[in-house]
Amino acid sequence: MEKTYQVARENAEYITAMRRDFHMHPEPSKEEFRTCERIVEELRGMGLEPRVVAVTGVVCDIRGDRPGKTIGLRADHDALSVQELNEVPYKSKLDGMMHACGHDGHAASLLGAARVLLACRDQIRGTVRLLFQPGEEIGYGAKAMIKEGCLEGVDATFAIHLASGIPTGQVDVAAGPKSAAASMFGYRLVGGPGHGASPHQGVDAGLCMSACVLNLQSVVSREFDPMEPLVLTVGKLNSGTRWNVIASEATFEGTVRTYNPKTFKKVPEAMDRIVNETAAAYRCQAERLFYEELTVPVVNPEQATARARRTVEKLLGESAVVSRPASAGGEDYSFMMEAVADSILCNMGSGNPDKDSCHPHHSGRFDIDEEALVNSAAMYAQYSIDFLSE
Ligand SMILES: [Zn+2]
Ligand SMILES: [Zn+2]
Repeated sequence: MEKTYQVARENAEYITAMRRDFHMHPEPSKEEFRTCERIVEELRGMGLEPRVVAVTGVVCDIRGDRPGKTIGLRADHDALSVQELNEVPYKSKLDGMMHACGHDGHAASLLGAARVLLACRDQIRGTVRLLFQPGEEIGYGAKAMIKEGCLEGVDATFAIHLASGIPTGQVDVAAGPKSAAASMFGYRLVGGPGHGASPHQGVDAGLCMSACVLNLQSVVSREFDPMEPLVLTVGKLNSGTRWNVIASEATFEGTVRTYNPKTFKKVPEAMDRIVNETAAAYRCQAERLFYEELTVPVVNPEQATARARRTVEKLLGESAVVSRPASAGGEDYSFMMEAVADSILCNMGSGNPDKDSCHPHHSGRFDIDEEALVNSAAMYAQYSIDFLSE
């Protein structure tokens, strides 16, 4: 057994306790003040010198016994406005807010990895930089940390995302596209007020919005190559004030996902056209409120993938390496990958039917098989030792 794995296992209780602490106290993107404070406290307790960056992010270097290159290990730590539906002792203490993507587990694993690395300092040739990243779900943190110089002098980076769709003990390490480019958009429609019983005297922005939402799907089905994945989702719809009053205003927000950067650039034009023309057909005024690119695609390079596969084989055995198709999820770690070419994202299996941890990410039933956190901590540590030893 590798020493990294052994030490990670010895720290299983610590890692689980940290994960549960984060889980009980979820915080929205860019407002992870308590989480940030806890991380700083923990790292100081290990004798390290953490630094707060990008409002609620933390950077901390662990220097090995010998000089060498630098690798950045990234873990995000924001939660989501999702109501937790699990009845567990570590249930979220905040109504309507939950760690439903596993970022509590990421932060806890990286803290565990810090302990592992400190115990294996003699194996570290160079520097391991811990990157605790805020605001992943809004595409804020990675860019902000890069802007603040966190990747300066960094030769490679490595990130883990827990995956409830992969069994615990397996790791998805595959080259090529892993997650999509993602954007966030919002539109406003303005009609005119009226009595619900006399719709002809008003202009119904709610009806117009319904038509816009339906028509927007034709962007996907009729304007782009069906062989190239493209998703357009309207997730939030708002209109009206009362059941018997014509909605004179409506707003809706959504997201676009694709692996193709060119498609990504072209979609907003098509959306504008459809929304504007539909609004005109329904006698409404349309206005685009915002269109923001949150992530670029995650594409794992060959060399780093081969290295990560060897690391997984060492820790968990050959059968642990799996290869899963890319997901349409967005991941802002992609900006770090853009900044440092030798970078890779692995999906760590955390699904276990016996522990009811196979529910989808971002759902109120999402949970983690905490066994996966030990694997993650060992993986963070071993991958950095392997890279620095090359
Ligand atoms: Zn997420
Ligand atoms: Zn996530």
